Amino acid sequence: MKILRNAGAGEGRFVDVTVQDGRIANITAHLPDSLVPGDTAVVDLQGWLLMPAMAEPHAHLDKALTAEMVPNPAGDLMGAIDAWVAAAAAGQITEAGITERAIKAMDLLLVHGVTAVRTHVNVMDSIGASAVRAVRAAATEFADVLDVQIVALCGSPMTGPEGAGTRAALAEALEVGVDLVGGCPHLDPDGVGLINVALDAATEAGIGVDLHVDEMLDPAVLTLRDFAKEVIDRGFDNLVAASHCVTLGMQTPEVQAEVSALVAEANMAVFPLPQTNLFLQGRDNPTATPRGLTAVSALQDAGALVAAGADNVQDPFNLVGRSDPLETAALMVMAGHQLPNDAYDMVSNNVRQAMGLEAVALEVGSLADLVAIDAPSIRGAIADAPMARRVFRQGTLVASADQQVSVNR
Ligand SMILES: [Zn+2]
Repeated sequence: MKILRNAGAGEGRFVDVTVQDGRIANITAHLPDSLVPGDTAVVDLQGWLLMPAMAEPHAHLDKALTAEMVPNPAGDLMGAIDAWVAAAAAGQITEAGITERAIKAMDLLLVHGVTAVRTHVNVMDSIGASAVRAVRAAATEFADVLDVQIVALCGSPMTGPEGAGTRAALAEALEVGVDLVGGCPHLDPDGVGLINVALDAATEAGIGVDLHVDEMLDPAVLTLRDFAKEVIDRGFDNLVAASHCVTLGMQTPEVQAEVSALVAEANMAVFPLPQTNLFLQGRDNPTATPRGLTAVSALQDAGALVAAGADNVQDPFNLVGRSDPLETAALMVMAGHQLPNDAYDMVSNNVRQAMGLEAVALEVGSLADLVAIDAPSIRGAIADAPMARRVFRQGTLVASADQQVSVNR
């Protein structure tokens, strides 16, 4: 048994939280020290706000932290893909290097308050499932502290005779072990065909599907509709998600509502990824530059599950990024026009739901995956994002950060 003492519970309330067997066993008003039995394990949270731990629905741990090694001066999606392919061909992307950087990236996630992450990992003709093996090796180091889901991100094309090598690489990845099948229908000559290949493979393997969907601004491209219809027609009921969905944001309100209704009916989660899409999209549109975000409100109005992620972190697809979901939440407030509490749900429990994990709450019986942050409110935490945090995985302290600030005047 352990007590997380003096935790901020919002609205000026402070509580002591007892954890037993990984779950919250009791919550009381904050008690004076003298009333706590001397032999009880105690963590003093100093009044910091205690919240559900955060989760990252869309990372690329095989690419993270390569911004210097793989430069992308063009700054757009094709520039990033070309830069990555060239670096791989030059032998710069090694299995050992991927494992090492993925470990660093997971450390960063953990210290910011993340206890669950879904990562896409490249699976291609040229590299087979080597990157999946490398990220798997990194994930084993975090077995006790992070839920890690791996998506086999299949290279393009994935269909037709030209896609045979990619499909063979996917078969290899399924043998190594992945949790979901991924790919990019908007980059394939046969987008609908790709959706079918992905759903067939996932059905056979008994796993989920998470596709990079319509990551461009051309409103004529809308494979999200095909994806949702196919999921509904098949009755596919494993985990299913559509990441990006940028072109949905470029449609008329009527089309947004129609497609969002299909997405909700298909039980698909949608992940807006504001950092990377603000970075990659709209470089050819100097006037009224689009934001590259999906139609968040239309999806919410239709009842679809929307969670938000950081996507690329300090690689050719996005040169910056802190691996801090509070950065994503801030962008969902500023660029996605969400209220702060809703933005926080989008980087915590909505992600957990999309990943098939149980929800977490400051309630008796809840799993004690929690983060304490030195902030007065969720809004304040998102605004300041202080590096003063305590991260708990099933009640065990797994990461800490303490921020020193001094002002001399
Ligand atoms: Zn991605």
